[in-house]
Amino acid sequence: MIKYNLKCENKHEFESWFSESKEYERLKKKKLIECIFCGSKKIEKSIMSPRILNSKSTKVSENQDLKKFKRDLINVRKFVEKNFEFVEHNFADKIREVYYNKNNKRNIYGVATDKEKEDLKEEGIDLISIPWVEKDN
Ligand SMILES: [Zn+2]
Repeated sequence: MIKYNLKCENKHEFESWFSESKEYERLKKKKLIECIFCGSKKIEKSIMSPRILNSKSTKVSENQDLKKFKRDLINVRKFVEKNFEFVEHNFADKIREVYYNKNNKRNIYGVATDKEKEDLKEEGIDLISIPWVEKDN
């Protein structure tokens, strides 16, 4: 459902609900919308209300998808924390250390700047960026 503020030629303003924006256009074309005060059929859309109502079922499934997505991300984070070594500083240098030393089989993770990511990419070192979700909310 979508709510429009409508205005007639005599500047009467009123609100009306439509199932979708196309329905408004359809009804307007057929002159089925009229001013509730004076009955004028010269109606214009005023400012659109930002309130759009989703049906309940849609809302629930969206939330569940989001929750599942977040749970997946948290699992990724847990996996990384368990199997990778956190490098707080000089992440890019540490990556090169690991990358160019064949005996060095460490998995590491850390934070790289966009510039560092670019440089590493040019050297043929592919990084995977993962969204880091907070676990406690
Ligand atoms: Zn009117």
